[in-house]
Amino acid sequence: KATPRRKPDWIRVKAPVSEGYAETKKLMRELGLATVCEEAACPNIGECWTKKHATVMILGDTCTRACAFCNVKTGMPRPVNPLEPDNVAIAAGKMGLEHIVITSVDRDDLPDGGADQFVKVIKALRRETPDTTIEILTPDFRGKHEQAIEKIVEARPDVFNHNLETVPRLYPTIRPGARYYASLRLLERVKAHDPSIFTKSGIMVGLGEQRLEVHQVMDDMRSADVDFITMGQYLQPTPKHATVEEFVTPKTFDAYASIARAKGFLQVAASPLTRSSYHAGDDFEQMRKA
Ligand code: SF4
Ligand code: SF4
Repeated sequence: KATPRRKPDWIRVKAPVSEGYAETKKLMRELGLATVCEEAACPNIGECWTKKHATVMILGDTCTRACAFCNVKTGMPRPVNPLEPDNVAIAAGKMGLEHIVITSVDRDDLPDGGADQFVKVIKALRRETPDTTIEILTPDFRGKHEQAIEKIVEARPDVFNHNLETVPRLYPTIRPGARYYASLRLLERVKAHDPSIFTKSGIMVGLGEQRLEVHQVMDDMRSADVDFITMGQYLQPTPKHATVEEFVTPKTFDAYASIARAKGFLQVAASPLTRSSYHAGDDFEQMRKA
């Protein structure tokens, strides 16, 4: 099948500049922090930042893996920054964030895979900005996920997110270095350790997956007690990355969303521009208003 060349109309490419964008950028630079919102030139930045949601990337900007869909650079990462947890909390306070998503690169080089730093960031946020709800979006902590999960779950984030990214058949090409069932087990273990923490996962579509394979992933997530699901269109960051096999139509996303709701997910976000952290915290926002 020929690769579609042109982006369809329903994919907006230009990131709308949000109110306070330059100010936030300056603050992040001063604190030595990176947001995925800016790094990935996320098209939702205007909407998210106006709603006081952002995604901060901890543990540096260099990843020990090289996934075929991801634009983060690969190499030997720098040592962990001990000031990072406090800096994340300062940024959340200054930005007045109601919901923060903390993600990281994959740190296969660290004995704990970076779990300690997640714990420190959660603690610093709880101390400095107790009203901010915290969602963590973690790597798979290959080979050490049991210890990592235990530590992180004890720090009690509000949402524990770990993405399956794609259907299992495409793992060898799209997510080499990761194992589908290991990621699924990680999500299952989080829920088993603390059922009060919401679990969340997501996939990108348009990588050549079949509809039935997507339905199977939803079933697998539900059998691991995953509460929230996100689905969005994969977009090729550079020509070196995996090609887009299909631009999934908004109608198909709507169909996926209905199926996901029928399968029992508590929160479903499925649209071309949905990203893992898009509309994260909406449920908490509703609770705040209630
Ligand atoms: Fe940031 Fe996620 Fe919103 Fe994009 S969708 S702007 S990465 S919080
Ligand atoms: Fe990107 Fe995460 Fe893969 Fe690293 S592990 S290359 S940050 S998707």
